[in-house]
Amino acid sequence: MITESKRLICIVILFMLLVFPLSAAAANHVVVIDPGHGGSDMGVKLSKSVYEKDVTLAIAKLVRENLSGADGIEVRLTRLDDKNASPANRRKIARKSDVDLFISLHVNAGFGVKAKGYEIYYPAASVPSIKKSSSGEILKDMKQTRRLNSCVRFAQIVQKDMGKVFPREGRGLINAPVLVLQSITAPAILLEMGFATNIESKKKLRDEKIQKAVADALSKSIKKYFSTNGAS
Ligand SMILES: [Zn+2]
Repeated sequence: MITESKRLICIVILFMLLVFPLSAAAANHVVVIDPGHGGSDMGVKLSKSVYEKDVTLAIAKLVRENLSGADGIEVRLTRLDDKNASPANRRKIARKSDVDLFISLHVNAGFGVKAKGYEIYYPAASVPSIKKSSSGEILKDMKQTRRLNSCVRFAQIVQKDMGKVFPREGRGLINAPVLVLQSITAPAILLEMGFATNIESKKKLRDEKIQKAVADALSKSIKKYFSTNGAS
């Protein structure tokens, strides 16, 4: 027997479901941010106590914070704290079928003490085979071309937005076989944000205001990428 109070509860639940549909929170676009290094793998040294692993994690977290209220965008990180995520684990997170964009964050070193600026790597295109034996192979090639176009389009957006944080410090887009990017099916870039071997550059990367500016620029780029037609 249904009591009066149970009937009232049922009515209230039905009303709530009508007013707040369960699907409202679903994200349309998933971005994976990969803060380079972590744990005992410290990356390059920026000061006595600050390493590449700290800066990449701080910026990744800021991007996630920035976009947490953004319409239809979900940000996932390959590591949430100072632990070294194995390359296999990073790839596992990045290769999930719903991932739309992958960004790996790093800090450069070398090329002499004067070298500074940011570099954006995108995956090298595989050499197309001349003989096409099946429609499956042609389709695979088309998919790869589409992915490569998306990588370049996103890299160009990032290059422009990063240029506002580090004016005239862009070292260009580099098409290279970067291991972490090659194994991912979603459009992907690796951003080298500056040089630990340059005094001015490493000072900037340690600065929390600059870290926030880099995170803001990346957040803007991600929003722009998804709001422009052709985003996959
Ligand atoms: Zn690195």
